[in-house]
Amino acid sequence: MLIAANWKMFKTQAETLAFCNHFRAPDGVDVVIAPPYASLQVALSSGLTIYAQNVHWEDEGPFTGEISPPMLTELGVAGAIVGHSERRQYFGETDETAARRAAHALDAGLSVIACVGELEAEREQGETESVLRRQLARFAAHERLVIAYEPVWAIGTGKTATPELAQEAHAFVKSLIDVPVLYGGSVKPENAAELLSQPDVDGALVGGASLDVDSFTEICREAIRS
Ligand code: PEP
Repeated sequence: MLIAANWKMFKTQAETLAFCNHFRAPDGVDVVIAPPYASLQVALSSGLTIYAQNVHWEDEGPFTGEISPPMLTELGVAGAIVGHSERRQYFGETDETAARRAAHALDAGLSVIACVGELEAEREQGETESVLRRQLARFAAHERLVIAYEPVWAIGTGKTATPELAQEAHAFVKSLIDVPVLYGGSVKPENAAELLSQPDVDGALVGGASLDVDSFTEICREAIRS
């Protein structure tokens, strides 16, 4: 089981240090923390496995505001999230750019969590499978690639997919690409057990509930029990 924390644009260096000083990753679960870029170095000093929240598809160049795989590996960062729905919604990320980011990061030796998931309207119109098929078409299975299935309507909204719905989507994703699949979307200590116990749920990508040491620790513990 892999439990990954996506801190989004939360936590200064001081707040990152406070979290890392209190957090002890429970034995028996792989834990990844993805802080903002400015807090990567201080997070790395904790010895935890640290990912970036994005990564570019070139090693260097005129790409203001971006960060490249060699810059991350030089720091000691182990991987990156790509294609998060907030990147797609607010920053012009497309299926193509997400896949380019993933391919280059994997080539550079980083691990990758690639995010996919349908909008609420797409689910209501019965398009979930075609959206997932389109989003996944450019990704190739790799030993360091993990997919995060994150229904967009469940991210940061408090709405969680039912365990059955998550299982159905995960099984579909796995029929298209043979890699572990994390669930993301309002995962909390109260719902983690039922989601993580689904046969094709291999872990979780946790946003809001990963910002608090106690709730994130509890989710990690549920992963061990599942
Ligand atoms: C996320 O940011 O990937 C996420 C799933 O957020 P939340 O847990 O807050 O819904």
